[in-house]
Amino acid sequence: MAILMDGKILAAEKMAALKTRVDALKEKGAGVGLAVILVGDDPASQVYVRNKGKACEELGILSETLRMPRETTQDELEAAIDRYNRDERVSGILVQLPLPRHLDEKRALARILPQKDVDGFHIANAGKLFTGQEGVVACTPKGILYMLKACGVPLSGREAVVIGRSNIVGKPIAMLLLNENCTVTICHSRTADLAAHTRRADILIAAVGKPRFVTADMVKPGAAVVDVGINRVDGKVVGDVDFENVEKVAGYISPVPGGVGKMTICMLMENTVEAAERKGQ
Ligand code: NAD
Repeated sequence: MAILMDGKILAAEKMAALKTRVDALKEKGAGVGLAVILVGDDPASQVYVRNKGKACEELGILSETLRMPRETTQDELEAAIDRYNRDERVSGILVQLPLPRHLDEKRALARILPQKDVDGFHIANAGKLFTGQEGVVACTPKGILYMLKACGVPLSGREAVVIGRSNIVGKPIAMLLLNENCTVTICHSRTADLAAHTRRADILIAAVGKPRFVTADMVKPGAAVVDVGINRVDGKVVGDVDFENVEKVAGYISPVPGGVGKMTICMLMENTVEAAERKGQ
């Protein structure tokens, strides 16, 4: 039976350590705060934003959510970002995605000051990751790497296979694993014979968005399987991995819920704290 990579336990430990850093910042009078801009009324986004607010509260970080109507214009959105760019109380800014379709996501993300871009989606931060420079790393991939390391999964020289090539999960986690000296394969919807790749993986990352997509026969015995997926099936949240069967084959496995999602929020908090610490240096 696989060892559980328990996001709840790891996140609780990390949050306790972050609390100490927040207290130290506050003692120095440094502004540590997260501003979240939410445009429209996407129900999943509402839940994510609420959870981010709760995490800030737990750490005693200032948390401000700017709710803007669906009809918000690009200029209005960018003006709001500019205000937070100038706001000394705020160390991190996050524009909740997806934006309504009439808005230009790339332009909005590019408007955030890179040092306040705690989602790590700004082109400058993505570029730094890809060129091996220090920058803000996107929260989900950062959380996945943290989880693997905290659970003692060996990385250097191992085969890592990532299913999914999105800018927010697949590509950045592939880059982080490459930086850890894994041999990395990125698979996607056009990959021929996916299982032939996944069966070679010592580390398998599933970021597909399809319920129970990764089955036991696709997994190498003893592999570390990280499930990034968040899928709603009959009112229940399930991952991209057929947990019940894969846990019998894998060496390590992360659950959904209570896995990567927990780590993501935790890393958002860490990025916000780090942004405040950098400002104070
Ligand atoms: P996305 O839709 O942008 O990308 C999905 C990827 O899966 C694509 O690159 C596509 O090529 C690949 N894919 C689709 N069908 C495939 C197939 N049959 N074979 C191989 N590859 C296939 O999604 P995303 O934003 O990267 O998110 C992926 C999942 O992770 C979603 O369920 C999302 O909700 C979840 N997610 C979770 C967190 C978290 O904090 N836990 C954060 C971000 C995303």
